[in-house]
Amino acid sequence: MQAKTPIHAPIDQFPVSDGKLVIGGMPITTLAARVGQTPFYAYDRQALRARVAHLRAALPPAIKLHYAMKANPMPALVGLMAGLVDGIDVASAGELKVALDAGADPAEISFAGPGKRDPELWQAVASGVLVNVESMRELPVLAAAQQALGLPARVAVRVNPDFELKGSGMKMGGGPKQFGLDTELVPEALAWIGREGLAFEGFHLFAGSQNLRAESICEAQQKSYELALRLAASASSPVKFLNLGGGFGIPYFPGEQRLDLAPIGANLAAIVERAAKELPQAGIVIELGRYFVGEAGLYVARVVDRKVSRGQVYLVTDGGLHHALAASGNFGQVVRKNYPVTVANRVGAAEREVASVVGPLCTPLDLLADRMDLPVAQVGDLVAVFQSGAYGPSASPQGFLGHPAVVEVLV
Ligand SMILES: *Cc1c(COP(=O)(O)O)cnc(C)c1O
Repeated sequence: MQAKTPIHAPIDQFPVSDGKLVIGGMPITTLAARVGQTPFYAYDRQALRARVAHLRAALPPAIKLHYAMKANPMPALVGLMAGLVDGIDVASAGELKVALDAGADPAEISFAGPGKRDPELWQAVASGVLVNVESMRELPVLAAAQQALGLPARVAVRVNPDFELKGSGMKMGGGPKQFGLDTELVPEALAWIGREGLAFEGFHLFAGSQNLRAESICEAQQKSYELALRLAASASSPVKFLNLGGGFGIPYFPGEQRLDLAPIGANLAAIVERAAKELPQAGIVIELGRYFVGEAGLYVARVVDRKVSRGQVYLVTDGGLHHALAASGNFGQVVRKNYPVTVANRVGAAEREVASVVGPLCTPLDLLADRMDLPVAQVGDLVAVFQSGAYGPSASPQGFLGHPAVVEVLV
């Protein structure tokens, strides 16, 4: 017999009580009343803590975990994460402010991203954070800031490697890219850094994102390590920081499974062992965004209307792509697929039907679930979209069509 494709990616992170999804220890209906409005995002502290602990248990203790806060920059959540992980990766001066306000140690903050403006580079030097240099243009600006402020410009070189992360949702290294310095340019940059006396700390490599294949991640980590080791020969001082990237994916779509961490842990253990001899001063870092936060969040909207059009049921909610662009399928998906969605106050109900969940925007793109098997819902019910802890409000066009802003809570 052929296995039936499950209707959802694995979703077991939130218990159900009396037919209601429970998050932060509260039934969803109670939480909705506490928030006082729909739509809202809720992120579960316990799920975040459990995820970090799960990862630490699977990886060698020497591996440092950094949170790439672009996945979810909510200040309270960044504050929680700052206490759980070993460092925060920021990608703008705006994110840097949130990380510093959250109490993250500047010594353990790194700042990556193309097109860093001069004031942002000065802010980074003044803050004492590590800059992942992505362009030769950044070097003289950092040297000037170091000179004027009398503070070290801490730099790592972000390398655009000559390989990519196979099977990634988004490729961010290999071939021509706007990210990092091409491998070929790195010796020249290292010579410049040595000559001008910037505080060289190491390398940053990031091959891609949203990968569910452990063997591809291991291969990218191995190749990244080898490349950094080769490039270290051109550096004027020892490598203290080696960021091997991340790319750990989470299951969003039917048929996808959670990433198998065991081979990744074994692979990193082998790298740590080699590095102890070959790069003895290097702290090895991996940086993850969605893997930490994605499965810990729900997007919750209320059913405003229930319509039947030529036999197809539409649940029209007060939430949509203006808050949840990724869940609507419009943030990097090639073929639209459904995130896991449920009627959060009727989980497990016997009465089910096939329905589409849409938002209030005047565009057919505003689709949260396309013809999904769901509990039968009525006006006033709550729809929850799982896997919504990453790339939510900050990655959505909130101003589009002038609907109310979404609220975020950490529970
Ligand atoms: C976006 C990004 C991340 C986070 O990616 P996730 O898929 O959320 O883990 C990490 N590092 C860099 C450099 C990034 O640009």
